[in-house]
Formats: sequence, structure tokens, C-alpha cells
Amino acid sequence: MTNRKSSIKVDTEFSLIERYFAGRDSYHSDTLLSVGDDAALLQIPQNHQLVLSVDTLVEGTHFLKGADPEALAHKLLAVNLSDLAAMGAEPRWATLALTLPEVDSQWLDHFSRGLFLLAERYQIDLVGGDTTRGPLTLTLQIHGIIPLSAEVRRRGAKPGEQICVTNSLGAAGFALQQLLEGEGGASVAVLQQPLDRPTPQIEAGLLLRNHATAMIDISDGLLADLGHILEQSGVGAWLELDAIPIHPYLLDLPRVQQLTLALTAGEDYQLCFTLSPERLEEVANGLAEIGCEMSVVGEIRSQSGLHWEGEWRPEKEGFQHF
Ligand code: ADP
Ligand code: MG
Repeated sequence: MTNRKSSIKVDTEFSLIERYFAGRDSYHSDTLLSVGDDAALLQIPQNHQLVLSVDTLVEGTHFLKGADPEALAHKLLAVNLSDLAAMGAEPRWATLALTLPEVDSQWLDHFSRGLFLLAERYQIDLVGGDTTRGPLTLTLQIHGIIPLSAEVRRRGAKPGEQICVTNSLGAAGFALQQLLEGEGGASVAVLQQPLDRPTPQIEAGLLLRNHATAMIDISDGLLADLGHILEQSGVGAWLELDAIPIHPYLLDLPRVQQLTLALTAGEDYQLCFTLSPERLEEVANGLAEIGCEMSVVGEIRSQSGLHWEGEWRPEKEGFQHF
């Protein structure tokens, strides 16, 4: 075999896996067998389905060399959790495939700390993985559960329904812009928070699964992600630009820039969902109770395409403004 996988061992007594990733108590009795055997065994509760998603972060593509390992671990788990949130699923288990150029115990220490901190918050058991040598690449597969037929898919939006967004948009894009422009200063660390440590909207997703007709998490920008809902639902939409919830960090920017960041920059990991108008009040109240804001940003129309009033146009090449 030419493509032999090289494994990494820290020393003879403790393998890297045992030192950093094994031996933790499980949060769930459904975790029948965790790290340490040939495979994990997980029990799906009766009348539930397994929900899976996987995401990879590659050094040089998704993050810069020298990025804080604790923040990387947070983001790796958070972006996966965001996908579960967008289905309305409850997170349960994760597997982790790590490709490392070398064994750097300080890096692993910080990485595992970041991972288990967020895992604890959502009671996620790390049940397995794989560890190999190579260019720094982080892959996490998340596993959740959801009652049969309770999931919210991208399809399902119908004419007359309201288009809603959780919290606010644009802060991650703003942080990335600051980073790329090399803006320094004490405020940068604070501004980077939304980019480095997005908060997955798990609790909102669980509430919304009883109400939303279609849902997606905003990873590529509202226009692109709402576009997926429209396409899969076979509908169009009217967008109310004045109703887009702009993150407070952006309020000093020119209006055009605010809209560009909020609508096209992505990485905010908020939820975009559609609701029948009679559900609006109940859902807004429910979300408010868990500390989540909600804005109505438009309406589903039968006529295809995404439309709005005003001069603003996305500057990104390749965006299909039909
Ligand atoms: P195998 O050769 O059978 O794949 P490994 O030595 O790769 O066994 O893994 C041993 C155990 O450690 C398995 O339970 C595997 O799931 C787990 N494991 C390996 N790497 C990781 C990791 N990065 N995080 C969590 N568990 C891991
Ligand atoms: Mg293996």
C-alpha cells in the first residue's frame, strides 16, 4: 500500500488519544460504548431518528496558521452544532478525525479544552475518532437525535409565510474584514468573538421544530442560504432590507456596507426560517424566553426569485440574483 496511514503515539505509556480524548464519563446512558474499542455503540431512543452532519477545517483554507487551538476546537464543534440546530435536532455524540503535522502537547491541551468546554454545555459525548499525521486538518462528525418526522427541512416554505432570522447578522463578516485588513488595537479581540466563537442556536432550533416550515443555518450569508430554502421549496421571496437585523458592531459603517456584510458575508450561524403568520407571536415569545431575538425580514411569494426594494445589490461575483 502506498497510501499508508501513519499513526502518532506520544509515548509508550499514554497514547495521545488516552491523554487528551479518552476516559471521560458519558453524559448519556445511550452511549453504550465510547472511545477505546474498534467502534462506538450508540442507542437511538425509540421513535427517534439519527441526525448526522460532518464538517472539516483545513489550515490555510478555513483558518490561518497559528490560530488559537481552543478557538479552533470551539468553532469546529459549533459549526457542526449549527447544522443540527437547523434541523431542530438534539445533539448527542461526536467523532473527531485529527490530522496533525506533529504532536504538540500544548496545542492538544488547548484544543481538547476548547472542545470539551463546548461539548459540556450541550452534553455531547466524544465517542471516537481517528488520529493521523499530515497537514493540520480537523474533521468532526456530529450525531443528534430527533423524533421521527419532527425535523425541519429546507423545503416546506409556502407563499404567504414570514421569513425570520434569529438575533443579528454581519458581525463575523466584519471581524473577518478587520482581520484581513490587519486592523490592530485592543478592540480586535472582542470583535473577533463572533467569528472565532459562534454560538450555535441549538435551543432555538429545538423550539422552532414545532413551528417552522423550513429552516437553514446562515453559514454563507442570508441571501445564499435563504436562496437554498427558496430553491428547495419551489417558491420566491420578498425581502425587507430595512428589517434586516444588523449587528451593533456595524452601526457606524455606511449603510451599503452594513447590508453587504449582513446579507452576504456569512459565518454568523444564526437560523433563517419560515413561519405561518399566525405563529409569529407565539414563536417570538418562546424565543424571547430563551434569550433569542427574532426579526421578520420578508415574505415567501409564489413568484420565483428573491426581490427587494432599493439600490443595494450584492457585490459578490457569482451570486444568482434572479
Ligand atoms: P483503529 O486502528 O481500530 O481505528 P485507533 O487506534 O485509531 O483504532 O483508535 C483507538 C480508539 O481511539 C478508537 O475507539 C477510536 O475511535 C478512538 N480515537 C482515535 N482518535 C481519536 C480522536 N482524535 N478523538 C477521539 N477518539 C479517537
Ligand atoms: Mg483509527
